[in-house]
Amino acid sequence: MSKRALITGITGQDGSYLAEYLLGMGYEVHGVVRRMAMQNQLMRLERISHILDKLILHAGSVENYGSMFRIVESVKPDECYHLAAQSFITESFEDGHSTLNTNIIGTFNVLSVVKELTPECRFYFAASSEMFGRVTESPQNELTPFHPCSPYGVSKVAGYDLTRHFREAYGMFLVSGILFNHESPRRGMEFVTRKISRGVAMIKLGMADSLCLGNLEAKRDWGHSRDYVQVMHTMLQADKPDDYVIATGETHSVGEFCEYAFGELGLDWKNYVAIDDQFKRPHDIPLLLGDYSKAKTELGWAPTTKFAELVREMVQEDVRLLGGE
Ligand code: NDP
Repeated sequence: MSKRALITGITGQDGSYLAEYLLGMGYEVHGVVRRMAMQNQLMRLERISHILDKLILHAGSVENYGSMFRIVESVKPDECYHLAAQSFITESFEDGHSTLNTNIIGTFNVLSVVKELTPECRFYFAASSEMFGRVTESPQNELTPFHPCSPYGVSKVAGYDLTRHFREAYGMFLVSGILFNHESPRRGMEFVTRKISRGVAMIKLGMADSLCLGNLEAKRDWGHSRDYVQVMHTMLQADKPDDYVIATGETHSVGEFCEYAFGELGLDWKNYVAIDDQFKRPHDIPLLLGDYSKAKTELGWAPTTKFAELVREMVQEDVRLLGGE
């Protein structure tokens, strides 16, 4: 009998790649989808539209204990990947309440329901390098102290601690992946990497003449979502539950991302990029760099997509989506 996986956040970037990956491994894949007041219902399902007929979707919100109870009761998952979150850091400064509610109460709800109904279910929590925040050492590993610099980062520390607490208190198989930034052509338009790849494509195709960004100095460790979802699954197949840093071990600035992205289409980014303070965060993190050696040693995982390939794929896909060659 095939294993059953439940993914919260299946309509997001990671959820869509993970669903594809698990289907490819013969899983029965269930997903939680929020109700929406949209005329075109398919818009929210865009990232999973190519596999919709293979998925089993359930309407609900992680913020609502009752809906999660009903879903877990009917699915009885063997593995639960809890990816749903308000994941945009800038938005977490604007609306901290919603971010904390979705990311902390939502995580508590999912953990509580799994404990109540399917305590044998293996559970993955999407933790984040944003938990490290103002870093005290570089690179960051599983032992680096947390010092989050946004409501989003704070909410992920709480989710991480809740996951650890349930594991220790109830002996359940619960893990957190401390994932550094990961991108793809499916990244949301509001995130800086996608804003750049889309902006470059628009400039090249004559649909825009400049691109406004915030902090070009911020350095991040950027990998590909496709690589990262695979290790979420690997973590749940391990002999014992544990937390892992997942990263590339390389760091690049936003300015460098621009340089590669514009360079991909033969443009010099300095002629097109303008700085606008409205895109700067009230409290930014200068540098994040991950040490994934524990995942490499214990899970045999390593990233396969290099920074230049990631940028190329994103730019070329945005050109294609906008109707270019
Ligand atoms: P996305 O923003 O692309 O996806 C977020 C998903 O969460 C969407 O499917 C969204 O659904 C869903 N969601 C939000 N609120 C609720 C809710 N109340 N109930 C049910 N579903 C909800 O994020 P990513 O795919 O990039 O990231 C996946 C996870 O990994 C997130 O938790 C994120 O914080 C974390 N993470 C991501 C990193 C990255 O670089 N991408 C780095 C580290 C951690 P809808 O379509 O309805 O909006």
